[in-house]
Amino acid sequence: MNGEPVRKIVIVGGGTAGWMAAAGISKILGGFPGLSIQLVESEAIGTVGVGEATIPQILSFNNLLEIDENEFVRETHATYKLGIEFVDWLRPGHSYVHPFGTYGLDMLGIEFHHFWLRGLETGAQEPLDPYSIAAAAGKAGKFYWPQLNNPRSPLSKLSYAFQFDASRYAAFLRRRAEAQGVVRREGRVVQVHQNGKTGFVEAVELEDGSRIEGELFLDCSGFRSLLIGQTLGVPFEDWSKWLPCDRAVAVPCTLAGDREPLTRSTARPAGWQWRIPLQHRIGNGHVYSSAHIGEDEATDLLLANLDGEPFAQPNHLRFTAGHRERFWEKNVVALGLAGGFLEPLESTAIHLVQSSIARLMAFFPTTAFGEQEVRRFNRETTREYVDIRDFLVLHYKATERDDSEFWRYCRNLPPPDGLAEKLAIYEGSGRVLREHEELFTETSWLSVMAGQGIKPKGYHPVAAMLDEEETTRRLAHIRQVVAQAVSQMPTQDDFLQQQGSAIAASERVTA
Ligand SMILES: Cc1cc2nc3c(=O)[nH]c(=O)nc-3n(C[C@H](O)[C@H](O)[C@H](O)COP(=O)(O)OP(=O)(O)OC[C@H]3O[C@@H](n4cnc5c(N)ncnc54)[C@H](O)[C@@H]3O)c2cc1C
Repeated sequence: MNGEPVRKIVIVGGGTAGWMAAAGISKILGGFPGLSIQLVESEAIGTVGVGEATIPQILSFNNLLEIDENEFVRETHATYKLGIEFVDWLRPGHSYVHPFGTYGLDMLGIEFHHFWLRGLETGAQEPLDPYSIAAAAGKAGKFYWPQLNNPRSPLSKLSYAFQFDASRYAAFLRRRAEAQGVVRREGRVVQVHQNGKTGFVEAVELEDGSRIEGELFLDCSGFRSLLIGQTLGVPFEDWSKWLPCDRAVAVPCTLAGDREPLTRSTARPAGWQWRIPLQHRIGNGHVYSSAHIGEDEATDLLLANLDGEPFAQPNHLRFTAGHRERFWEKNVVALGLAGGFLEPLESTAIHLVQSSIARLMAFFPTTAFGEQEVRRFNRETTREYVDIRDFLVLHYKATERDDSEFWRYCRNLPPPDGLAEKLAIYEGSGRVLREHEELFTETSWLSVMAGQGIKPKGYHPVAAMLDEEETTRRLAHIRQVVAQAVSQMPTQDDFLQQQGSAIAASERVTA
């Protein structure tokens, strides 16, 4: 073997990224002889405290950890999530859902949406939502598990994720990680010791003078980027030209309004507002561009648009869209906010942590730290960021809104190359391209391109093989099957009760 296996891992930071890494890595490598995983965090510094909405990939992380779903939902006060509802993004008064799962039914060997496009031309004017069981159930406040073993059921087209309390999630993971042997160290890192020759990190020093030595360091220190940024000086690639939002203000409110299993994103004059309904409260936040609106106005706008009563001080956050040029440098791997930030419009940050953990496990080093593997890790992680960036930019770029300086800037921005190609192909022929194994599927791209009002000039020629009447009939049938399936699903509240994963009524924060 080239080098000894890495046995001493030090995780700097105990936010979502740190505890996900601790729980995931101790689960996978737990049986490794001589392995030690230490996590250092500082209660005085605290965590970013937001990050409540996820995407379906989290299910595989939960499976890896052998998490009992009902226990997980109850303990993190989670709700189910079937997609994101985008309100006022195309124009005020308009809304659509980016659903988890797929639309309709493929026919004649080609994707469903080509028949939908043909239907638009021949009289079936319904938008995409009623063809998606996730969108339709989400809007109706219903939830049931997917029936993947029954391909004839509309529920086989469903996928789901969770919305949970970020601090409860970190605490949940911490319990598991500690039970799997991870040792937590409390204290502020005040100094980082590097090898004089190689620059590799050898130890971090806490304010009480204690040293924590390691062979591999995971930088989970949040926006401070203590190791990869401050110590190793890896430059930050700034994407704020494409994603100008650079501030957020977050506030929880009491339960009120719809109980839909959907995250809601409502466009605002200089950004957008999230609404994440949990079992005990609603999480809210306003993501905005400071070049276009001031902090006070942004906060007032948020507070004026809550369903319930706010019950904490607004939490103000600053960020820059982009990422470290390298996520892995020497013996430091950055996870979470230490490595980069993409605004939470599509709830991707927790997934990025998860996929980097999986990649790190695939490329788990020896003390020789092979350069090729490190390069490959960095290339794949960067590509994932680029793919997500392009998908986010689509939401801003394809809009009819021109009611503020912010929206005029976004709609007139030349798109990044990858997005420009996807847009041109969809506009020309209705084809939806998915690059390599990128995170967002054809369904996701279609939902946002169609939802943001892009109208293709054509569709797959095979779709024209069905005559108009048959096309209309089949489309109506699919809508009816979806609606019927939704009518038989329980409401999310009933589902939580049935599963025993509902929290006690006394834990709900109500006005
Ligand atoms: C406005 C906003 C909304 C978001 N919404 C979502 C969402 O809906 N879905 C989603 O997936 N993601 C979301 N995210 C991202 C998500 O919150 C983060 O990706 C996730 O919480 C990971 O954060 P972290 O662990 O990297 O950093 P943090 O939570 O900031 O944790 C950093 C840790 O490092 C420690 N630390 C720092 N410096 C030191 C030091 N010197 N010594 C010791 N310890 C130190 C801190 O104490 C803390 O424990 C959102 C982010 C923002 C900003």
